[in-house]
Amino acid sequence: MAIPYVDPDICTGCELCTQVAENTFVMNDDGVAEVITPAGDSEETIQEAIDSCPVEAISLKED
Ligand code: SF4
Repeated sequence: MAIPYVDPDICTGCELCTQVAENTFVMNDDGVAEVITPAGDSEETIQEAIDSCPVEAISLKED
């Protein structure tokens, strides 16, 4: 299974992914998105969050 990963150096903190896939991504204390539960949402929803990121900060890593 592919695990989503947010690159904190690229994330601008727009919060979009946390709104699209709210069970997978949260904003952390540094103001960037972080994965809390890798499969918190369906694959489709996680992909939608990846596609919605304006700076392409989210990638999928194969397990
Ligand atoms: S959508 Fe992209 S830039 Fe916005 S909070 Fe999520 S990872 Fe960061």
